[in-house]
Amino acid sequence: MTFIHDEFLLNNEPARRLYHEYAAGEPILDYHNHLPPVEIAGNRQFANLGEMWLEGDHYKWRAMRANGEQEEVITGNASAKDKFLAWARTVPHTLCNPLYHWTHLELSRHFGIDTLLNEETAEEIWEETTAKLAQPELSVHGILKQFDVRALCTTDDPTESLDQHEAIAALGIRTKVYPTFRPDKAWSVDEPKLFNMWADKLAAAADGDTGTLSGFLAALEKRVDDFHALGSRLSDHSFPYCFDNFPSATEANRIFDKARLGRAATGEEQRKFGAHVMEHLGRLYAQKDWAMQMHIGPQRNNNTRLFQTIGPDIGCDSIGAWPQAAPLAKFLDRLEQDDLLPKTILYNNNLNDNFVFATMIGNFQGGTPGKLQFGSGWWHADQQEGMEWQMKALANTGLLSRFIGMLTDSRSFLSFPRHEYFRRTLCNLIGEWMAGGKLPDDYDLIGDMVKRICYQNAREYLKLVVEE
Ligand SMILES: [Zn+2]
Repeated sequence: MTFIHDEFLLNNEPARRLYHEYAAGEPILDYHNHLPPVEIAGNRQFANLGEMWLEGDHYKWRAMRANGEQEEVITGNASAKDKFLAWARTVPHTLCNPLYHWTHLELSRHFGIDTLLNEETAEEIWEETTAKLAQPELSVHGILKQFDVRALCTTDDPTESLDQHEAIAALGIRTKVYPTFRPDKAWSVDEPKLFNMWADKLAAAADGDTGTLSGFLAALEKRVDDFHALGSRLSDHSFPYCFDNFPSATEANRIFDKARLGRAATGEEQRKFGAHVMEHLGRLYAQKDWAMQMHIGPQRNNNTRLFQTIGPDIGCDSIGAWPQAAPLAKFLDRLEQDDLLPKTILYNNNLNDNFVFATMIGNFQGGTPGKLQFGSGWWHADQQEGMEWQMKALANTGLLSRFIGMLTDSRSFLSFPRHEYFRRTLCNLIGEWMAGGKLPDDYDLIGDMVKRICYQNAREYLKLVVEE
């Protein structure tokens, strides 16, 4: 039997029935990822697996470093083939890590290859995948069609042009592609050079004046409108922990003016300014019925040597250990007090905080089914057990039935099989509860919940325009 077979990860009878009869056929709505819009607009055809797998995947880079590979074949100037060969040497050492599952799922689902990847099979797999990648089925549009991706949401800085998104919309492909508003640098007042460059770019993008705080906030609002006009209904933010120290308007103005004059805000001022901007944005999202995503908890750029030579987001981030409950509650409550808390999806990086997040969302529910969401297992928790722990925490303290399910958060067009991975995991977990008598033996009831978690919940919650 091949490693990736029909019943992969499905270890009980109800799981197999739930997966094949209810989950497998649902379309995909990948509401958070980092796919480059330019590659969708241009229908990129990749030359080889080296490009596809290793251009931007810091999960793989991390594993290769742990396996002793040199930086040259990880993020350096080595050829795509040499990088692929280094990855092939690493794969057998990723046994028990989700990378081993993902790698073989991707080989199977995209290329029909069931051979296990290692140093000996690398050449043959390289040849076969390179030949197949030249076919239209493996172009970006071919992949989106094969996986029945009805919509996907990229991650976009509001100072960047939305031209590529306009170009994609004009293509008329079935997959709807929407930008997500991610204004990370809007509170970088502790780095005035960066902040001023960003604020100037924002002024140009919004055709506004960001010389004052009110002009700056108006420019952000203008960009939210621009994103909205293209069908976007989501924002995304990431921080170690929520901003919860809200300044007066006078103080916010003073911090802004100081940074605009090129003087760095202190750490405390920066967090206060972040609180001011996020509060403003949160209210705006509520008025527009957007969903606000918050990715909370990682401790980034821990390796100074690699940060200085290669940069950020290269696989030197780990789980942070900050207290999350109090700042998160204070931030959400600030918006809730004025009844301007938007739909919110909270992604947790530290598994120790799963029950904090799962119970926190329960404090602010109402109006929309699952208005506050505890997002699927994220980053260091994006593996089978991490997904199970997230779903168990949610099931035990909230409504799993209202969960909007999986997203890839990926930079690679080969990652859509991760929806299958999630669905198998979901069905295996729920099937185990059915087999153990914890859930009724009612496939209409349970199967309907499975289907909704796979697709329909996200479809209804996000209110994106999607072709049926
Ligand atoms: Zn992301």
